[in-house]
Amino acid sequence: MEFPSKTETSAKYACWKNGKMITPEQSVVSIYDHGFLYGDGCFEGLRFYNRNPFRLDRHLKRLRRSLKALDIKIQYSDDDIRKAISECIANSALNDGYLRILVTRGEGDMGLNPQNCRAPNVFIIPALLSLVNDNARREGVRLITSSIRRAVGTGLDPRVKSLNYLHSILARAEANAAGVEEAILLNQFGTVAECSAENIFIVNGGVLFTPPVNDGALEGITREAIIEISHSIGIQISEMSLTQYDLYNADECFICGSGARLIPVKSIDGRPIATCPGNVFNIISIHFQSLIDEECEKVADEAH
Ligand code: PMP
Repeated sequence: MEFPSKTETSAKYACWKNGKMITPEQSVVSIYDHGFLYGDGCFEGLRFYNRNPFRLDRHLKRLRRSLKALDIKIQYSDDDIRKAISECIANSALNDGYLRILVTRGEGDMGLNPQNCRAPNVFIIPALLSLVNDNARREGVRLITSSIRRAVGTGLDPRVKSLNYLHSILARAEANAAGVEEAILLNQFGTVAECSAENIFIVNGGVLFTPPVNDGALEGITREAIIEISHSIGIQISEMSLTQYDLYNADECFICGSGARLIPVKSIDGRPIATCPGNVFNIISIHFQSLIDEECEKVADEAH
């Protein structure tokens, strides 16, 4: 089978579906799949560097937690998924890229009763993903506060990486309408949760602050790496509820995620952030790159 090997962000690559490599044209789901009908499913998004997935263990653990929360049982072990990911990366011919692991509850009836879905569908989809252009990445992005709230304790736990991203999509649409790059979602109590697809950090007086996950933030794997880095290099870090006032008055602000990596913030709701990119951001970014180099190189060495 011939697979495309393009390098544009719109390029489509061979995918893995339920144990088989398939072309992008074959990667379809039934209209009765509850992932399609109801957003019933979950996913992971991760990056690979030098053909090695970054922190795959943690992504698999988070996937398992989402699956448990949704009570979806898949027939594939973590090792099966690892092998499938290697196959997808090899087929893509990309050295660096992005991967989505996606699980739907599978085909059922038109009604939403999950009991009627017997076989979940599992996909692995390689892609090139670039959230902002190089200029915005260097000079910082502008954020607005969205009117959309990330509700905590009122329904689906925001830690589940579910297929329903409408909160985030509506928030991003507000950012588009305001002519800025990204939007912040507050929770229903008015404290900061996260951005549409990134966690958020501020720096004040040399101390890093980020909202705790029970304020409505996803337990981001990039966020976790930043917390680890700050411990290892002696930057004080505090997981603390933050308000818009805290963000506006920060010395520095940045956002992070597997797709975004680390991006400095230059303004929030039209108020310029004091320094962008700031010193703490620059130091953390260097260490984050070293972590990628170390961890993604090491796996390659072991494989030889
Ligand atoms: N919050 C949301 C809503 C996200 O979709 C993402 C991207 N997965 C993140 C935060 C960042 O998480 P991670 O660093 O694990 O990609």
